[in-house]
Amino acid sequence: MQDISERTVIMAAAEPAGDDRYAAATHEVLNQPFELTDYNLFASDAALMEAVAREGAAWAAADLTRFGERLGSAGYLELGVLANRHQPEFDTHDRYGRRIDLVRFHPAYHALMRTAIEEGLHASPWTDPRPGVHVARAARTYMHSQVEAGHGCPITMTFAATPCLQLQPDLAASWLPKLHARVYDPRNVPVEQKQGITIGMAMTEKQGGSDVRANTTRAIPVGAEGPGRAYELVGHKFFVSAPMCDAFLVLAQARGGLSCFLVPRWRPDGTKNPLQVIRLKKKMGNVSNASSETELRGALGWMVGKEGRGVATIIEMVAMTRFDCMIGSTAGMRMATSQAIDHCRQRKAFGALLIDQPLMQNVLADLALESEAALVLSMRIARALDNRSDTHEDLLIRLGTALGKYWICKRVPQHAYEAMECIGGSGVMEDSPMPRLYREAPVNAIWEGSGNVQCLDVLRAMRRTPEVLDAYFAEVETARGGHEAFDRYLAALKEDMGDMSDFEYRARDLCDRLALGLQASLMVRNAPANIADAFCRSRLESRGHHQYGALPRGIDLAAIVARAAPR
Ligand SMILES: Cc1cc2nc3c(=O)[nH]c(=O)nc-3n(C[C@H](O)[C@H](O)[C@H](O)COP(=O)(O)OP(=O)(O)OC[C@H]3O[C@@H](n4cnc5c(N)ncnc54)[C@H](O)[C@@H]3O)c2cc1C
Repeated sequence: MQDISERTVIMAAAEPAGDDRYAAATHEVLNQPFELTDYNLFASDAALMEAVAREGAAWAAADLTRFGERLGSAGYLELGVLANRHQPEFDTHDRYGRRIDLVRFHPAYHALMRTAIEEGLHASPWTDPRPGVHVARAARTYMHSQVEAGHGCPITMTFAATPCLQLQPDLAASWLPKLHARVYDPRNVPVEQKQGITIGMAMTEKQGGSDVRANTTRAIPVGAEGPGRAYELVGHKFFVSAPMCDAFLVLAQARGGLSCFLVPRWRPDGTKNPLQVIRLKKKMGNVSNASSETELRGALGWMVGKEGRGVATIIEMVAMTRFDCMIGSTAGMRMATSQAIDHCRQRKAFGALLIDQPLMQNVLADLALESEAALVLSMRIARALDNRSDTHEDLLIRLGTALGKYWICKRVPQHAYEAMECIGGSGVMEDSPMPRLYREAPVNAIWEGSGNVQCLDVLRAMRRTPEVLDAYFAEVETARGGHEAFDRYLAALKEDMGDMSDFEYRARDLCDRLALGLQASLMVRNAPANIADAFCRSRLESRGHHQYGALPRGIDLAAIVARAAPR
């Protein structure tokens, strides 16, 4: 690590002029920080290390330490920069006019994909089931997303495809071995020629993304109809991310209603399946990841799950992608917090380091609280995923994932912006990590079920399975007595949830409060007392109407910042 007092002297090519030999050496670079590199993303993250141990993956700590060291190196962090600076490029045809639908990526993107797959981020809970495996995978994903978020899209979809494919055992038997292999093979060739593959999903059409029942893509049977049978799909998809995946889970209308299909890029006979990419999306964020518009011109696919049950089938996948949205947004907050704190520990203004000045301490501590609260919630849901056979845990996943996806993903943009402001003008510059974090921030909230859709999903879950609310309160109430503000908050929330008559109208307010209640309960039970107290007093008493940096009096801000400092 470089000494921050070291001074870099800018020496312009200067001609000696009389006694002043270096007249053109204009200035020394003073009071400018050194970049946050060469640190361990695991060993420097106290909240993460505690969560991993607490939620059942202590066995993974040594390997997570190794991974965190690798990811924090300057060279590895640079992969994230390069994968976004050099955007994916798309060719419909090769130079001789043959249809190829080829997306070309920078080698840095491929390097990130290779690591993710070799580390099992796409499959470890399915290939190595053991207590704590979801927690360990979540920790790895959280660290890798801090380096780069865009490649996480195909990794998450590949991870999430397994529960969906398992609904169709014949397809699962032939596809899962390659889907689970720790082999990254980006070649544009048929699945039959590969050892390792990736899977994407295509639901959204022009006329509706949230309301996929409005899909117009048709599935025409090739011969016999029904689960596992071959169909040809005709229609379009308005958003298909990671179009270089080897296959896609696609929704289309069969005779019996909207159904789910597995559609490969290449047909088994080696010819190109006419799932044709029309163009790549021009995205404001998530740049390293290619997203596309496609047309299906008789594309071969096999029905997955029951005919007419397409949404119920693909929801198995969506449940997991929503969980990964929580992890990804939590990672964004962690990286933003790290960048802000690390900058302020090196930068002086008005004679003192920013990190030592009360108002900046208040902002940094508040950012750190938000980041830690996102982490405790995400890791608690990871533990629930590890224990689905337990009824309470299973019910908790249902509400906890919808609430967490809604709340954590929504909290990121403002968090990223505040972290950027801590860095000042340099934080706005494209060679800072902050613009990338900022542009990435809204994406998780919008895809995989936007905010309102998550709130309505909470309502649907409570109507269909009222026990999910009982499980929620059973979980949250274990912190009762731990903090006065929390106890008051919980009592008011319970009372309000007693009247569900106009839930849809009030869904945002109630979901905000349900999510905060769960976070606060977890903080009271698990975080150091000072941090839990700061969280409860700032979030439960003021209901978050302040800007960041308005933490109430009497909090040991320096201790909160020190805990979150990346080095
Ligand atoms: C970068 C990116 C990549 C994507 N990749 C994929 C992909 O790979 N595969 C795929 O299938 N899709 C993908 N999507 C699409 C994404 O999932 C949809 O954009 C999203 O589901 C919203 O659908 P929509 O855009 O049609 O908006 P709409 O469904 O029109 O929704 C617009 C707004 O209305 C709100 N709304 C909807 N219904 C209600 C209601 N009943 N009450 C109140 N409010 C409501 C929504 O919350 C949203 O805020 C991607 C999107 C992005 C941005």
